[in-house]
Amino acid sequence: MTNNQLCKVLIIGAGPSGSIAGALLQNKGYQVTILERQQFPRFSIGESLLPQCMEFIKQAGMMEAVVNAGFQYKNGASFVYKNQQTEFSFEDKFSEGIGTTFQVQRGKFDKLLADEAVRMGVDIQWQMEVLTADFSGDKPKLTVRNQQGEILYYEADFVLDASGFGRILPKLLDLESPTGFPVRQALFGHIEDRINDNQFDRNKIRITVHPGVKDVWYWLIPFSNGRSSVGVVAEPSFYSAWDNNDTALKDIINQDPSLRRLLKNGVFDEKINTIIGYSANVKSLYGKGYALLGNAGEFLDPVFSSGVTIAMKSATLVADILDRQFKNEAVDWDKDYAAPLQRGVDTFRVYVDAWYDGRFQDVIFHQNQKPEIKAMISSILAGYAWDEQNPYVKNARARFNTLAELCR
Ligand SMILES: Cc1cc2nc3c(=O)[nH]c(=O)nc-3n(C[C@H](O)[C@H](O)[C@H](O)COP(=O)(O)OP(=O)(O)OC[C@H]3O[C@@H](n4cnc5c(N)ncnc54)[C@H](O)[C@@H]3O)c2cc1C
Repeated sequence: MTNNQLCKVLIIGAGPSGSIAGALLQNKGYQVTILERQQFPRFSIGESLLPQCMEFIKQAGMMEAVVNAGFQYKNGASFVYKNQQTEFSFEDKFSEGIGTTFQVQRGKFDKLLADEAVRMGVDIQWQMEVLTADFSGDKPKLTVRNQQGEILYYEADFVLDASGFGRILPKLLDLESPTGFPVRQALFGHIEDRINDNQFDRNKIRITVHPGVKDVWYWLIPFSNGRSSVGVVAEPSFYSAWDNNDTALKDIINQDPSLRRLLKNGVFDEKINTIIGYSANVKSLYGKGYALLGNAGEFLDPVFSSGVTIAMKSATLVADILDRQFKNEAVDWDKDYAAPLQRGVDTFRVYVDAWYDGRFQDVIFHQNQKPEIKAMISSILAGYAWDEQNPYVKNARARFNTLAELCR
């Protein structure tokens, strides 16, 4: 093997987890190289952020750039089922911390984070696809293909897999493990929404339960430029009546009276995309010479928009532990990385489970809501799923089960 490129930290993928981890480590004084398969801006799904992730953006020194980028302000979530509607305002939350965020076109957002990481000194190499990884020697070695099709070799002190749904190390190292969730499929696209209902709040994501099939749901995420991301999530068999995605998405939207009314003038001027079987898990989030970030580790479900927040949380945890490891301090990857990350993921899992079995809807559409309990749930929906001061985080499943029983 000749011409090895030597790096301190090598990150696979320049999505949110890669750029935030890269910036944090570079700011701690370590030389970071990110290898990204694509050229940014590129389309990515996952456009509704949670306020908790603004704390991570702030830690990485990127707040000013994000705030000034002109994204759609977001202050909460609205849930709709037939003629019932309920809203969560993230500023009325139990936990301390930032209470607002943005709805972002990920092409622009991810490029902005990557540009910020470069501004801080991170070396991002575009159109470089990681093909193989070897952790058997003293240092991890990666094989990479550049845009010209040439094969290059990289060696690093440590590798972070931030390859998202690419899941490069889980595939190469046989780390994949079942998620426990049924396979679901999303159809989605960006439209010119032409919403002219002045009751409609563009500052909130709108999640609508399908009027006839309760585990089918839609998202409507308005952007600041008059366009919106719209999507539907269902088990694959639900779509079998349609033979193309464009017609399917429009028809399914029209099945819900409130969405049909809102989007009656909407222009579907872009191709409708689909993604199937996106929930994923791994046997381990770390190993000798590597750790998995964001979606390369575990991905639950899109319903509570937790993906980018979990991705950034993993980046902040890894940056701290790696810093300590490089300083030859004792580190315990399980105790300091996997377990703390998992605690927040498990909080979200309680709510994802309750969404699909209908108990979350029983709770949020219940007529007698206690403001202090709503504030605790609002905290979780705002992404503060690691705040152990919140009883609905500390004893997430037991607390939620009791509440759901009371609401039934
Ligand atoms: C239907 C759906 C809706 C969603 N909605 C939301 C939402 O509203 N809000 C939210 O927070 N999350 C949402 N998510 C989740 C969100 O998309 C992800 O959690 C988030 O993008 C994860 O970030 P990441 O940095 O881990 O990976 P990514 O953002 O996927 O970035 C990974 C990067 O790695 C690169 N890469 C992949 N393979 C290689 C390779 N071999 N070599 C080099 N580079 C590589 C890719 O090109 C990519 O740029 C949704 C997910 C789905 C499926």
